[in-house]
Amino acid sequence: MVQRERIADHVYVFRSAMYAQVNAGLVATDNGCILIDTLPYPQETLEIAQYVKERLRSEVRYIILTHSHADHVYGAYLFPEAQVVGHLLSRELMIRQTRPALIEARQRSATLSEVHLRMPTLLTEQEATIRIGDFTLSMNHSPGHAPDVLTVYVREEKVLFASDTVMPVPYFINGNIDDLRRSLLVIQDTSPVEDVVQGHGEVLLRGEVQLVLKEQLEYLDKLEAGVEKIYESGGGKTELDAFEIEQCGISRISLNGLVQQLHRANAYFLYGQMRRREKQAA
Ligand SMILES: [Zn+2]
Repeated sequence: MVQRERIADHVYVFRSAMYAQVNAGLVATDNGCILIDTLPYPQETLEIAQYVKERLRSEVRYIILTHSHADHVYGAYLFPEAQVVGHLLSRELMIRQTRPALIEARQRSATLSEVHLRMPTLLTEQEATIRIGDFTLSMNHSPGHAPDVLTVYVREEKVLFASDTVMPVPYFINGNIDDLRRSLLVIQDTSPVEDVVQGHGEVLLRGEVQLVLKEQLEYLDKLEAGVEKIYESGGGKTELDAFEIEQCGISRISLNGLVQQLHRANAYFLYGQMRRREKQAA
């Protein structure tokens, strides 16, 4: 069962129980609903569709896909009536990466056999605004986790959907650590904010947002310094594997322990980058 939370009068969050606690958001207005991302497995996204139809007696008019990754976009085909909004780069990345990966995933998993991608057709680059009913949704380019990430700020409800720019551990192996730092700083400055919906995991409340963002920025600094030290002292796999997430100030328990794997992937990614840079410079 999808976990449903009503975080403001007109804003809901649906959290996947099947995959990495992905969050989809819903803004319900008098002129229809806007869905922010979908859930990876059709049966979970169908629970959202059912809720909109039967409980809200409404329909989804727009879907904003915050980036091209499978866990956020697979469900869009279940809302054929909705227009799909996304970053210009998402379209390209979906064609180049998400689609071929889906073809493989469909062969492995019967539950995905019906899934087909819907590409965004309303495209944004830096920022864009949708006004629907009494609500204003501002989309902002937020690269780092991936090059195409968009955040969505619902002005009237003071809710920020931060997509995977904010997760229980910052994760950038498909993007870039410096971009992610800058994007986290932008989120730090977003105001006023009552809730920040992370791409995965629990919703952050006003009282904890700044603390979490500070921890995330510190994580990136400590991670980079730690990997640099390993690299410069001639260390490798053994040292990287022994470099724990707690040494960078983040607990390993979130997302049922998945954060530890993400942390390790970050460390390897940075190490590889340092090695490539040195080779290029030589
Ligand atoms: Zn994700």
